[in-house]
Amino acid sequence: RPDQRWEMQLAPIGDGRRLVHLADRSGSHAAERMRVDFVANASHELRTPLASILGYVETLSDAAGEDPAIRARFLKIVFDEARRMERLVEDLMSLSRIEAEKFRTPAESIDLAALVDKTYAELADMHDGRGRDIILEHEPTPIPVLGDRAQLSQLLHNLIGNAMKYGRPGTPIRVSLTSEEDVVRLVVADQGEGIAPEHLPRLTERFYRVDPGRSRSIGGTGLGLAIVKHIVERHRGRFDIASRLGEGTRVTVTLRSPATANAVIKQ
Ligand code: ADP
Repeated sequence: RPDQRWEMQLAPIGDGRRLVHLADRSGSHAAERMRVDFVANASHELRTPLASILGYVETLSDAAGEDPAIRARFLKIVFDEARRMERLVEDLMSLSRIEAEKFRTPAESIDLAALVDKTYAELADMHDGRGRDIILEHEPTPIPVLGDRAQLSQLLHNLIGNAMKYGRPGTPIRVSLTSEEDVVRLVVADQGEGIAPEHLPRLTERFYRVDPGRSRSIGGTGLGLAIVKHIVERHRGRFDIASRLGEGTRVTVTLRSPATANAVIKQ
């Protein structure tokens, strides 16, 4: 295969004969390539808004910057681009923090229903009432899961945030929690544009977007689902995404309830 890498070692075993040892290094090669691609992508994503900021600041310091209308318009662009860089840096830092902790499975008992309610209130505030389109369905609190509060809150923000970004205006978003014997199932479903099947397996890759221009223009970093995937892995849970073009998308995350501290959810 083109991506296969072999390492060869020769060891003399007498009579002029040599033993050939071949080791398959394809795995580490693929990991190294992923790391290089990631650094290249992250640099590119940061460089684009930075170039724009530098260009506008330069123009602002010329005569054009003296016109109040132009000044206000350019400052707004500089602010938006700086915010884009800030979001990207925050997501990059989240990813590296979650990765650094991946071998420490979180063991705190968290009330996921209360966290869903809190996230709903925060999103409704942030989006000036657009949160009213969100329908919450869960049994009365508490619905405990084993987890890390900050990371589960980020997971909810990313999933409900995506449903709001890619959902069709005026259609509801359903967030439901069901508690089964030893697991809790979270479903976030929207009635938005949906995703073509060929993209589904790649959505949790860093910086993978179906429509990069659209994602950027609505404030996406391309890291939201990669962060979700890492959080779910750290919680030893399960992540599934199902979608139909033109109909909508449904993300299901399964987490362990405290009764099953040592159980591993079947993949
Ligand atoms: P982004 O910051 O671009 O939203 P994500 O990692 O959260 O990045 O998602 C990756 C891509 O998956 C998005 O760019 C979008 O194309 C697609 N996507 C994610 N969630 C949805 C959804 N609910 N409906 C349609 N497309 C989605």
